[in-house]
Amino acid sequence: MFYQSTRNSGLQITSSQAISQGISEDGGLFVPCEIPQLTLSEIGGLAGKTYPEQAAFLLGKFLTDFSGEELLDFAGKAYTTPKYESEDIIELSHLYEGTYVLELWHGPTCAFKDMALQILPHLLTASLKKTQLNKKVVILVATSGDTGKAALEGFRDIPGTEIVVFYPEDGVSPMQKRQMTTQEGNNVFVCAIQGNFDDAQSGVKKIFTSPDWKEKLERSGRMFSSANSINWGRLVPQIVYYVSSYARLVETGELSLGEKVNIVVPTGNFGNILAAYYAKQMGLPVGKLICASNSNNVLTDFIQTGVYDRNRPFHTTLSPSMDILISSNLERLLYHLCGKDSQQITKWFDSLASSGRYEVTDTVKNALKQDFYAGWCDDEKTKDTIKEIYQQYSYTCDPHTAVAAAVCKQYKKETGDTAKHIIASTASPYKFSAGVLDAILGQVPEQSEFELVEKLEAVSCYTIPESLKRLRSLPVRFQETISKESLGSYLEKALKIAE
Ligand SMILES: *Cc1c(COP(=O)(O)O)cnc(C)c1O
Repeated sequence: MFYQSTRNSGLQITSSQAISQGISEDGGLFVPCEIPQLTLSEIGGLAGKTYPEQAAFLLGKFLTDFSGEELLDFAGKAYTTPKYESEDIIELSHLYEGTYVLELWHGPTCAFKDMALQILPHLLTASLKKTQLNKKVVILVATSGDTGKAALEGFRDIPGTEIVVFYPEDGVSPMQKRQMTTQEGNNVFVCAIQGNFDDAQSGVKKIFTSPDWKEKLERSGRMFSSANSINWGRLVPQIVYYVSSYARLVETGELSLGEKVNIVVPTGNFGNILAAYYAKQMGLPVGKLICASNSNNVLTDFIQTGVYDRNRPFHTTLSPSMDILISSNLERLLYHLCGKDSQQITKWFDSLASSGRYEVTDTVKNALKQDFYAGWCDDEKTKDTIKEIYQQYSYTCDPHTAVAAAVCKQYKKETGDTAKHIIASTASPYKFSAGVLDAILGQVPEQSEFELVEKLEAVSCYTIPESLKRLRSLPVRFQETISKESLGSYLEKALKIAE
């Protein structure tokens, strides 16, 4: 099977080339030329298999230049205990009548990004070997929290890789900071910068695209790569858990094979919900894909009206991983919906870059409405939802998941749809203890982060994940804070590259 670019439908490259390159030279994203199909009996047959077996089977449909043994080896290394809390890898909790929470955060960093970032390093290093790029890769990351830590855990001690993460000094939560500054591994570097996330991001971009840096790395037998969510190798592992959770609900008799479910996803960059769309296109019985946003509701407006307009105030919310005004993976969906018209895509995204706005055709508007429903809720409603779920169903959820649960209720009320629903849960409540306690208790106690975590354990349905608990006693390894102009000199020092 081959891949093409959303900005050049004439391109034909292999999956390992798509993963090695990350983004196409024409600025587009790689998409599969056709979507592999999954029969109901194949879905039924996945029930009872281990998560790595399911992953190897499904990845094999897309990554056709990898062997089954290779994929099973990578999946076995990525999805295993004690990295994950149990061999089940994902958990399904019954929330209320016909509604399930798909917990994607039982991995090493307690965020759903582990689902992709635990396996990406294996896919990437193998892709580089297959494409004869026998160089050491340097992963550069600018992070506002979850991605940095999940990438560090994924790449730590992976032979042939080094990872350098920059985060804004005051732009991540105390728990996220602690997670990164105590990072273990022999190929990892973490550094704070004086500035905000945009400063970190533009600093990284500058190095990434600099010919001077390219040459410097080449001289030392290295190349840059990125771990962000536009890489196909990060998207494809996310398809697995939708199929896996469906198979599990069939196995337990809660769904009959072929019965349609709706999937609700708290959305930021549109990667997670796009994976659910691909699962549906493959043949997973899915009704509506419900896109949930916080006050940064650019996607809600877009799905409802067909006008994408990022010219609006940016809100800092209780669900920071969804505070995004440009959802880059949307480009892939639009490419499929507009009939693979790469000229059309180029026009829309040029318009987004120059004026912050574009409007899709009526055909695309109708196609969007066919598969998707969109809704949003603000911080007040998010807190109310956390409290309601806590009181009515004795379940504790993080603010991102609460946004999805609120939009799920809104959808059911508006449409009367009686299908079963799977709500994707993207973070452990312990990563957002202050917000969750505020919602449940009506105030945030003036305490240190670890005291808040203990307080949350006292009221919640979960014990503290081991990986967060042990942070308290881990030594801080990375203390350095640099100015936003000094990313280059930090990198030279870290990688031991002479000027
Ligand atoms: C990254 C993230 C999201 C958004 O996922 P996308 O794939 O970018 O839409 C939602 N919730 C949490 C906790 C995240 O870390």
